Amino acid sequence: MKIKFALIAAMIVTLILCSCSQPEEYSMDIFAMDTYMSLMAYGRNSEKALEEAAEEIEKTEELLSVTRPDSEISQLNENGFLENPSDDMLYLVKTGVELNGEVDGAFDITLYPVIQAWGFTTESKNIPTEETLVGLLSDTGVARVHFENGITLDDNTKVDLGGIAKGYAGKKAADILKQYGITSALLNMGGNIQTIGAKPDGSSWKIGIKDPQNESSLVGSVEIIDKAVVTSGGYERFFIGDDGKRYHHIIDPKTGKPAENGIISATVIGDDGTLCDALSTSLYIMGTEKASEYLNAHSETNAILVTEDRTLYITRGIEPVFKPLNEYINTTINVIG
Ligand code: AMP
Ligand code: MG
Repeated sequence: MKIKFALIAAMIVTLILCSCSQPEEYSMDIFAMDTYMSLMAYGRNSEKALEEAAEEIEKTEELLSVTRPDSEISQLNENGFLENPSDDMLYLVKTGVELNGEVDGAFDITLYPVIQAWGFTTESKNIPTEETLVGLLSDTGVARVHFENGITLDDNTKVDLGGIAKGYAGKKAADILKQYGITSALLNMGGNIQTIGAKPDGSSWKIGIKDPQNESSLVGSVEIIDKAVVTSGGYERFFIGDDGKRYHHIIDPKTGKPAENGIISATVIGDDGTLCDALSTSLYIMGTEKASEYLNAHSETNAILVTEDRTLYITRGIEPVFKPLNEYINTTINVIG
């Protein structure tokens, strides 16, 4: 009887201790920027902080959504100028323009008319003719964006920040959480992951990298602390044309067509979610050879590339924290950078 009583007392003490050491945790799911997002934060104020972070994501969407006629970007595209752009808009358009030169033209925010011709921003997808694409491409190029008196676009030029917007929204949301004193959070924004600090127990976050050819499987995982992990993949948004072929949303500025240069998934891991987002899109477009060259020349960029023949390329900085999984356990991993 005494033993039984002692056991129950011990169990109660353990339960109380467990509940005291559990940090406050709050999570919420939202639908924004055309994707389901799952946000989780730990510590005091996590509920209030996450609510404000979610509002910030929605605010960024309102600013950058090309399908909302009242968004700031739609105003820019419709009028061809913005005299008083918001700081966010000016920063993103400038960053987009600057990055174009760094990635040899692969990232091009002026491709919007081409993206419209494919119908990616609408419900009616369509394969444009070669002639249409050539015509539209002649009015693209970041040299057609000017920064005198705010932002000005040359005739027929329109911009789309879809390749950078989610990364930026993640960074802004993380800034808000940090202002609230949050030191542990995970923002899963559909293909874009933004983490703050480590897990509440101090260990690293383990982030799965989706297998681009099998959505229910993973290529591998990376262990990170306080970083963004951003993946671009043709499997994220695509349609099947009348010709039975798959057409995805990541456009090669050289051809105006979905990029088919050997890479089927490009993940970039780093401190700045905006840069990771732009670079993951760029590496995808560059293709295996050029992306490897870029990563060899930029040892500060960390990436995981999956090619169509199921080869993995990972940068030196990622190697110690990357673990291949499933079918990739026995494949050769090429370490670059
Ligand atoms: P992500 O999913 O981040 O790779 O971005 C893909 C989105 O970026 C597309 O849905 C388009 O809105 C936009 N986009 C497509 N091709 C390009 C490109 N070459 N440069 C910049 N943005 C692009
Ligand atoms: Mg991107």
